[in-house]
Amino acid sequence: MFSIWEQQSFQEEIDLIVVGAGITGLFTALHYQRRFPTHRVRLLERGPHPAGASVKNAGFACFGSPSEILADIDAEGLDAALSRVEERWLGLQEMRAELGDENIGFESTGGHELYSEGDPLYTRVADRFDELNRSLLPIFSQPAYEWRTTRKSDLGLNTGHIARTALEGPIDTGAMMRTLLNKTIAMGVDVRFQQTVTELVSEGDTALIRLSDGNAMKASFVVVATNGYTSSLFPGIDVVPGRGQVLLTSAVPGLRLKGTFHMNEGYYYFRDYRGRVMLGGGRHLDKVGETTTDDAITPLIQGSLERILREVILPDCDFTVERRWSGVMGFRTQGKTPMIEHLSPRIIIAAGLSGMGIAIGTRVAQKAVELVATSR
Ligand SMILES: Cc1cc2nc3c(=O)[nH]c(=O)nc-3n(C[C@H](O)[C@H](O)[C@H](O)COP(=O)(O)OP(=O)(O)OC[C@H]3O[C@@H](n4cnc5c(N)ncnc54)[C@H](O)[C@@H]3O)c2cc1C
Repeated sequence: MFSIWEQQSFQEEIDLIVVGAGITGLFTALHYQRRFPTHRVRLLERGPHPAGASVKNAGFACFGSPSEILADIDAEGLDAALSRVEERWLGLQEMRAELGDENIGFESTGGHELYSEGDPLYTRVADRFDELNRSLLPIFSQPAYEWRTTRKSDLGLNTGHIARTALEGPIDTGAMMRTLLNKTIAMGVDVRFQQTVTELVSEGDTALIRLSDGNAMKASFVVVATNGYTSSLFPGIDVVPGRGQVLLTSAVPGLRLKGTFHMNEGYYYFRDYRGRVMLGGGRHLDKVGETTTDDAITPLIQGSLERILREVILPDCDFTVERRWSGVMGFRTQGKTPMIEHLSPRIIIAAGLSGMGIAIGTRVAQKAVELVATSR
């Protein structure tokens, strides 16, 4: 008994459904709607608001620390590693241009990597530091990194050496996601929260989407942007969940820390946030246990984070921990290249951002949109 108005305005076939309102899903919907203004685009998110890694990370706008890039060069070769750095750098520029630095709280503080005194990692990085800067020159048109050993006392850190890049900095992740969500809605995308997708099937020239409330809907194409949660929809897919744990201290009087910081080959990362310290990482201490989609914190990893606070970041200060949380990323079993491909004629997957989604989310989304456009 649907009226002609209901049928025409609310039940017309949808051109594109995007599943997941993280940075990838929102940018996919935004880019697609901009490219095809007359198409009907719907975005389905199971949370009451974006609820995945995009709102759980520590807000680093980064393209890779020296040790991370050198490890990538050794694992995959120079060209592959450099093209990932370029992808991250371009993605960050595009995200900042699209949303505006003031709206995403970008601060041009610089990014850093720490090495303790006598750390073999320092020797490995120092030996190849100039060569790395030379390799990165075509991307940045300036030396990406410099040694800033004198800054260690300025920042209150207990460390040996600091490599710095002026090209990175922190963002306010929540403000970034809110700005992106508002822009996507303003573009005309029909964003629906508390809609959990349970099944997707290609049926002829449409895709059928079933929801946990028993409803179903059809679309010409679906882009699945559920990153670390994708294996719940497609068991066996090569996108493996990886949990990251974070803590935030209470305000630390006289905090000298400013900027974003990596240490232990990126296994730990921290920054200042409104006079507090935000610190995450430690996943390597329990890789099996952290291969999960469960949001939870564990004493092992939280204990290691607190030890780093005491020994390296706030050696001379008392602090209390105000908040702890976790987020789920999506990793490939081989390499770090995201999966952007057809799972079936009408269903495209855009997932496996390998802990780099702040940087590459908009680029992954553009590629997913291109795949839909060329499949029409
Ligand atoms: C602790 C931590 C630190 C990080 N640090 C960095 C960093 O320094 N730099 C960087 O670039 N990146 C970093 N990342 C990674 C970055 O946050 C992610 O790569 C990025 O947010 C992934 O975005 P996404 O949209 O693909 O996935 P998500 O943000 O996870 O979005 C997926 C969405 O899908 C929804 N969903 C899942 N299943 C369903 C379903 N069945 N039905 C409907 N909706 C569903 C989820 O609720 C979620 O909102 C970090 C992540 C974490 C957790």
